[in-house]
Amino acid sequence: MFEKKSLRDVDVQGKRVFCRCDFNVPIDKEGKITDDTRIRAALPTIRYLLEQGAKVILASHLGRPKGKPSPDFSLCPVATHLSNLLGQQVVMAPDCIGDNIQLLADQLNNGRIMLLENVRFHSGETDNNPAFAAQLAGLAEIYVNDAFGTAHRAHASTEGVARLLHPAVAGFLMEKELQYLGGALAHPDRPFVAILGGAKVSDKITVIENLLPKVDAILIGGGMAYTFLKAQGVEVGQSLVENDRIALAGDLLDKAQKQGVKFLLPTDHIVAETFAADSPSTSVKNVDFPTLGMGLDIGPETIKSFEKQISTAKTVIWNGPMGVFEFDNFARGTFAIAKALAKSNCMSIIGGGDSVAAVNKSNLQQQMTHISTGGGASLEFLEGKILPGVAALTDK
Ligand code: ADP
Ligand code: MG
Repeated sequence: MFEKKSLRDVDVQGKRVFCRCDFNVPIDKEGKITDDTRIRAALPTIRYLLEQGAKVILASHLGRPKGKPSPDFSLCPVATHLSNLLGQQVVMAPDCIGDNIQLLADQLNNGRIMLLENVRFHSGETDNNPAFAAQLAGLAEIYVNDAFGTAHRAHASTEGVARLLHPAVAGFLMEKELQYLGGALAHPDRPFVAILGGAKVSDKITVIENLLPKVDAILIGGGMAYTFLKAQGVEVGQSLVENDRIALAGDLLDKAQKQGVKFLLPTDHIVAETFAADSPSTSVKNVDFPTLGMGLDIGPETIKSFEKQISTAKTVIWNGPMGVFEFDNFARGTFAIAKALAKSNCMSIIGGGDSVAAVNKSNLQQQMTHISTGGGASLEFLEGKILPGVAALTDK
């Protein structure tokens, strides 16, 4: 399953190591990092490299500077923050390529660390320009990718460099992501249940198609449930429906039935007449769906039935909130799923930017088995796609 070389497989002592991290963190106007989760997530790999006596050259992108240097997107605050976390100086390089940077890399001592400036200050990064990738590769002897969150992008620092430096290995965070997500998909403990939600069916069609042959049950909540209910002829009022996907939703329901996969849709809902935090709401069953109402959360009966599935599951993958959890009045379904997962003994794997935000909001993140650090990357992984940043790593 995990057939790529890992950091543990290589000797990095005294070597210059190019380590791609995901330091794309939120920074406020005063240059303060408001959430350092991604930086902390990379610490095990960075600490290991330092302890092993490597010369550590860190690289990352930050935001979308569109191929030009811009002080707003400088990684300087990350270097400062990382210095504090590690208790040692992190040299901030003024750029990521060029003679000066090469000199800084060459002068780095064993067990010392430098951070390259934002790789997206050069258009060669997102273009995966071979000459730019070669310049990055020239800085080091070994490549480590610990940036799972950008592994779905074939950029110079995530893919190009990995093709040029050997060995190219997975860092500990990358390895963990692939082990949990990949392990669940390849040989799950059963029953294996997928919980899917979020706004749109169109975002998750490929995920459903990829998971259908692998899972025992799929539980659907969130806005995407309404296109499925519509396909079954259920009246859903003003709820979010993708009319051009109703037929496809019907096909997926048929497929699930043919493959013997339980496909659970909500049987009741929290509905409101307007999409607003303070909109008065009521709980209704499918048959009573009001013409003027829109479903903004799953109802209590649905919560009970989903809880029952979770309580007997051995493996659960969850992607997509059950309702508009950003509004407290419509967050109950999403939080109930988080609670059920926290209570259960199953292996619980959470992917998707909003789903992870919801779990963090519920304060139950410590009780999940694995929370993916990559929103888009985890989605593409669940779609069965091969991530270019992973494909480029050296085979075991
Ligand atoms: P993730 O980022 O975890 O993959 P998505 O981006 O697919 O999740 O979906 C998250 C969004 O779906 C949230 O902003 C949430 O408000 C919205 N959503 C959930 N349920 C509904 C609903 N019933 N109607 C409209 N939007 C919904
Ligand atoms: Mg999202």
